[in-house]
Amino acid sequence: MLGQMQNHPLLTSMLLEFAERHHGDGEIVSRRVEGDIHRYTYRDLARRSRQLAATLDKAGLQQGDRVATLAWNGYRHLELYFGVTGSGRVVHTLNPRLHPEQLVWIINHAEDAVLCFDMTFLPLIQAVHAKCPSVKTWVALCEADKLPADSGIPQLVSYEAWIGTSTDQYVWPKFDENSAAGLCYTSGTTGNPKGALYSHRSTVLHAYGGALPDALNLSARDSMMPVVPMFHVNAWGLPYVAALTGCKVVFPGPAMDGKSIYELMEAEGVSMAAGVPTIWQMLLGHVQGNKLKFSTLNRTVIGGSACPPAMIDTFREEFGVDVLHAWGMTETSPLGSVSTLKNKHLKQPREQQLAIRVKQGRAICGVDMRIVGDDGNEQPWDGKTFGDLQVRGPWIIESYFKGETPLVTDEHGHRWFPTGDVATIDADGYMQITDRSKDVIKSGGEWISSIDIENIAMAHPAIAMAACIGMPHPKWDERPIVAVVRKPGAEVTREELLAFYEGKTAKWQIPDDVVFVDAIPLGATGKMLKTRLRELLKDYKLPTA
Ligand code: ADP
Repeated sequence: MLGQMQNHPLLTSMLLEFAERHHGDGEIVSRRVEGDIHRYTYRDLARRSRQLAATLDKAGLQQGDRVATLAWNGYRHLELYFGVTGSGRVVHTLNPRLHPEQLVWIINHAEDAVLCFDMTFLPLIQAVHAKCPSVKTWVALCEADKLPADSGIPQLVSYEAWIGTSTDQYVWPKFDENSAAGLCYTSGTTGNPKGALYSHRSTVLHAYGGALPDALNLSARDSMMPVVPMFHVNAWGLPYVAALTGCKVVFPGPAMDGKSIYELMEAEGVSMAAGVPTIWQMLLGHVQGNKLKFSTLNRTVIGGSACPPAMIDTFREEFGVDVLHAWGMTETSPLGSVSTLKNKHLKQPREQQLAIRVKQGRAICGVDMRIVGDDGNEQPWDGKTFGDLQVRGPWIIESYFKGETPLVTDEHGHRWFPTGDVATIDADGYMQITDRSKDVIKSGGEWISSIDIENIAMAHPAIAMAACIGMPHPKWDERPIVAVVRKPGAEVTREELLAFYEGKTAKWQIPDDVVFVDAIPLGATGKMLKTRLRELLKDYKLPTA
């Protein structure tokens, strides 16, 4: 017997229609590539998204056709999220920090039909457009009068001219909620990138899950700043969560330095922000260096790579800002888990609470997780035993775009996505990432967590950034070394830093050496690129080998 309730498909247009009707005057503020601050409302967003959708109809785009974006966080990018998906096409966010050849590969693999880009990226588009035969229309996200006369790009139009004459009376179509809505490629640190193709259903359910109090905890009372780029796994779903909750949105645009972000936060009363640890490192550097305070920020979501405990502690103790440590992947839409305390933890002392906050947290309902050993058997949730982390749920990948399924099947017939992360899970369900399986250091048959070693270095007052990698060793297979960047003007010697490890970890886990570097190479999403660091240190010899 079936239930007898209305069968409304879960579509992204539903989120936008809700935001327009119930939060019509809710503000969306953007720092633009042009340098100025632009403001409008959810009502304006909805109207212009309809104009965009009507334009795509006029251009003859079919259901499922891909519209690519190469853009910073801003209102036009948000219109593309809703206008493209709501009308049944697929928004494909490109990461401008990728190598141009990799971008060309991705655009061709996705067979993008339209590509919309911020003027910042005009030189990049000029360099690659001839190699992208599927793209029939190039759209510069600007006013008609900002369009260069001799760009060399055929069919180049300005976004404002393109959508400007289209009707805003467009009616969002209804279609199967399992239709594709968004496409994101993994950064492909090993081999070619792989596409995760999100559906409307997965996107809407992910937005509901993400808004929950124990996830991103957003509401109509918030002013939210996604510092995480909209080309990094849909800014972790925040644009959709924003429409679902009606929160104020503040887009930082291209200005990603600590000073610009801080000033915009203060000017727009930002209460919640989200980004990778390297961004918050810069922000904290600016705020501490200038003896500033946050007057409205009360929480910040940090994820994408492990957030050092020292950062969580500083935010809380110095600034009264709660860090929500989150874990996820391109293949998981991305939100998988977030670390928030339970009722029984509230009376615990700060140290004990910090020990929970530094973990990657509890699964959001909708994501099931487990850890398995080498034999494929599930490992106990004791907070000590580690295993390969596997997840499943309605916003977890089934198969790659034009590719294979990565899923494995267990004895009950349940199909799990193997994340490539190694983790522990404790009795309360808090998951903690030990490492990516390819970064784990194997010393004398025992495993050393590179994240643990980095976290200790990051707690030293002179260290700005730390990356731990294994180096070949004749006796132990591998031994850890830690490459560190010192804070400007700060001093610490190799011996002092090694002494700092004593008592903080087992003796055999203390790195064999410290390498001082000017910078740690970062990848396209602001994460430390250990593959590149290993290349840079290829002539390095362990003093202990
Ligand atoms: P890539 O880095 O390959 O482009 P993703 O952006 O999808 O792909 O990154 C997913 C990976 O990032 C996870 O598998 C995990 O290794 C790492 N990661 C994400 N969040 C965290 C976190 N809070 N702590 C530690 N690692 C994390």
